[in-house]
Amino acid sequence: MKAWQWLAPKTLGLVDLPRPVPQKHEALIRVEAVGVCGSDIHYFLDGAIGENRLTSPVVLGHEYAGIVEEVGADGDQALVGRRVAVEPGIPCRRCEWCVKGRYNLCTSLFFPGGPGSDGAVCEYIAVDHEFCFPVPDSISAGTAAMVEPAAVAVHTAALAKIRPGDTAAVFGLGVIGLLTARMLQICGVARVFCVDVLPYRVAAAERYGLNEVFCSQPGSLKEGGASALDWIREKTEGRCCDVTFDCTNSAEGMGLACGAARRGGRAVLTGISGNEMDPLPVSIARRRELCLQWCRRFVHNYPVTIEYILSGALDVDSLITHVFSFEEAQQAFALTSAYGDEVLKASIEW
Ligand SMILES: [Zn+2]
Ligand SMILES: [Zn+2]
Repeated sequence: MKAWQWLAPKTLGLVDLPRPVPQKHEALIRVEAVGVCGSDIHYFLDGAIGENRLTSPVVLGHEYAGIVEEVGADGDQALVGRRVAVEPGIPCRRCEWCVKGRYNLCTSLFFPGGPGSDGAVCEYIAVDHEFCFPVPDSISAGTAAMVEPAAVAVHTAALAKIRPGDTAAVFGLGVIGLLTARMLQICGVARVFCVDVLPYRVAAAERYGLNEVFCSQPGSLKEGGASALDWIREKTEGRCCDVTFDCTNSAEGMGLACGAARRGGRAVLTGISGNEMDPLPVSIARRRELCLQWCRRFVHNYPVTIEYILSGALDVDSLITHVFSFEEAQQAFALTSAYGDEVLKASIEW
């Protein structure tokens, strides 16, 4: 089968790989759509996310959907022929964290599209049938692939422990930031202050129905980012926000999320800077007795995420700004990494 492999920073190659054979509990998926994620871009550009380094060619991509072609003997045969959104991380089900239900923290999680684990920018992938979630025919493959980033936003909102009437700030208005802001509205947050450094993303947020938006100067709390905090302080009469979100891909995001949180508030850290170490404004965090909550992907929420999309509450379609064919996969990565042509989500579909 054809597959796009990461070969070196900024270089993918179209190669022939053996078509996977599904094990007894696996479904064989004919991949129809893969979304390009910010985490893919760290691998594409740098070959690494923190200490996770690509040392040999690997197929990227973990936001995917497709048609189930066949299912192994122990799998659910009713899946055959169905379009499924695939939850990409496959846990061991035996370690302490799996047994306790927090399988996103599994000590031996298989996650496609990273070091040693081929991802989905290929024709076929075999995956545990229990992680295949059928979607109705009304949902396109591109939309079904968007369940993955949407599930991150649903989990992010869940970790925020929101109460009706809360105020929130979201830093970073890429797909995860926009979906998170929308989830906050769904969860009853009264005001969502949205910040990005790219004017086109601020404009996209407004079109997405977020009406309190600000285009910040780049930089940390003490640099350009201070302009965003001034704006939030002014909007909240100095109080700052009950809960704040770092959905950026930069080292500054965590600091801004801390700076915008009220006394006793909570900052949820979902963004991935790609660094092994990032600075935190520890004296602000301590004096305000902040609760910092990191987010690790998602857990137990694909069905509810699909419901939010089906009901229209969570609009994912308008975030797909670019569609590329399988042959054009490398362009999808290049465009996303360059923030070209006002891209939000680039979807590879075939
Ligand atoms: Zn992703
Ligand atoms: Zn486990």
